[in-house]
Amino acid sequence: MSNKKILIVEDESIIAEDISDSLISRGYSITGIVYSGEEAIESAAEFRPDLVLMDVNLQGEIDGITAAEEIRSRFQIPVVYLTAYADENTLRRVNATKPFGYIVKPFEEKNLHTTIQIALHRHQHDCLTNLPNRSLLREQLSLLLDKQKELPEMIPVVILSLDRINRINSTLGHDIGDYVLCKVAERLSNCTEKINIVARLESAEFAIVLEPVAEKQDAAKIARNILDIVAQAMIVKGSELYVTASMGISLSPGDGNDGEELLKNAYTAMYNSQEKGGNKYQFYTAKVANNYINKFTQETCLRNALKRSEFEVYYEPQIEIKTGKIIGAEALVRWNHPKRGRVSPAEFIPMAEEMGLIAPLGEWVLETACRQTKAWQTEGLPPLRVAVNVSARQFDRKNLTERVSQILRETHLDPKFLELELTEGLILQDEAAASQAFTVWRDMGIRIAIDDFGTGYSSLSYPKRLPFDALKIDKSFIRDIADDRQNAAITIAIIQMAHSMNMTVIAEGVENQRELSFLCVHDCDEIQGHFFSQALPKAEFEVLLKSDKCWNF
Ligand code: C2E
Ligand code: MG
Ligand code: MG
Repeated sequence: MSNKKILIVEDESIIAEDISDSLISRGYSITGIVYSGEEAIESAAEFRPDLVLMDVNLQGEIDGITAAEEIRSRFQIPVVYLTAYADENTLRRVNATKPFGYIVKPFEEKNLHTTIQIALHRHQHDCLTNLPNRSLLREQLSLLLDKQKELPEMIPVVILSLDRINRINSTLGHDIGDYVLCKVAERLSNCTEKINIVARLESAEFAIVLEPVAEKQDAAKIARNILDIVAQAMIVKGSELYVTASMGISLSPGDGNDGEELLKNAYTAMYNSQEKGGNKYQFYTAKVANNYINKFTQETCLRNALKRSEFEVYYEPQIEIKTGKIIGAEALVRWNHPKRGRVSPAEFIPMAEEMGLIAPLGEWVLETACRQTKAWQTEGLPPLRVAVNVSARQFDRKNLTERVSQILRETHLDPKFLELELTEGLILQDEAAASQAFTVWRDMGIRIAIDDFGTGYSSLSYPKRLPFDALKIDKSFIRDIADDRQNAAITIAIIQMAHSMNMTVIAEGVENQRELSFLCVHDCDEIQGHFFSQALPKAEFEVLLKSDKCWNF
């Protein structure tokens, strides 16, 4: 193990010199010998050694352990301790600093070298998979790029990220998540494709450096094969589990001047294939880079929007056919963008979901809607039910139920006036989790509606198994329902099925009299849509409520 730089911190100069000679004879270089904690920190900052050998007992203000802690946290340099004695208290403090090694003086030379070797290895390898980590990857990649400089071929640098790993962690547990990562690491290490380096970066991300290729197409072929290898079934606790990956590829020398830039651009390309749904590879191109920059600025705006109060809740009336009266409102969020004006949730909700912003945004909508509904009730307006959309990503979070009940408590809204709208997709993802949550919410007194019914892989059987109160027929079925025989047949079937299970049916997106008449004749319970009113800002909705409007059907 040569080329590595070591700093020696030892206040007994004879010992320090001995160690230094011994290390030099093994091919290490010594960045310095220093005698105090203060000097150790200064020297580490200046020379950035690969490892620090640190005497625990040092003269002066800062002892070895304090200095080591600082060096590790500030510069991520591994530290191996040297000590003449090891009482319990010292050992406890040493362990608290997560040392990379510990040697009791006097020691044999062999012992010193093995400890250093292990420490350097551990520092550059990922603990879970034992693959090289980012630090080693950087080193190896820069060596490779140097060697390749004069040759005509290209070096493909790949970032591979497992799709939906958070889902595996949250539904099957972190042990299984870790198992999947190890399994993928093993597959990548053992695969027969032309791979030079495999390293593990953050959580579910791997970097792969392929052997040089003559054509871009060669890299594409290898990438496809690697995707297939990852996607093969894994047997976990007796059942099959499938994971897929998204890949981004940059090519040296065209896509970057050094390893860092190549990795960064491969990441950008990887995000692009993730966005396209995963299980894909994408080369880095100018277009990908541009998309990324646009998206990045948009994301920054969205991240700040909540803080800057740019969101607003609109209310769309829901009318009961039997009485012709408004019995509820769907809360629909709007983004008043400072430059672009009103942005549709169809555009920013998916973005918020992807960025992990949907939880705070969803909670804000829920709280605003509940507070407003309670305020209207207090004002003496006819009591109203408010429907709030819950996205699948919000549902993934364990504390959603807790937050809902907290918001109900804080806003003093009776739970029977709250309806949560969930989509079929969410149920299909994890029926057991959905069933469990629905039961809890129902026991709390909250109404549950299935939104956009019929747009998923509509199974007409799960409503029988799951406890919910209302079905919302998607607006695509309502469109031209009086003339479109297929839409008509589906809608009639849904209404009959729902009624046989004592569920309420709401039709959304009703735009004209013909659609409305059809729904009245076929016994739909509630309706909403532009025929009655668009979603309105709070003040305008209030005017509508106060008018006590009644429609005659
Ligand atoms: P959705 O929950 O199915 O909401 C119904 C959408 O249809 C709303 O669009 C509404 O404005 C629109 N709509 C209502 N009547 C008509 C009509 O007669 N004709 C037509 N063409 N459209 C009509 P909007 O407000 O743009 O919301 C789109 C989607 O964004 C919603 O679909 C919902 O999935 C999501 N969304 C909106 N607000 C929130 C929110 O606070 N949280 C979450 N998680 N999702 C939200
Ligand atoms: Mg909805
Ligand atoms: Mg809908």
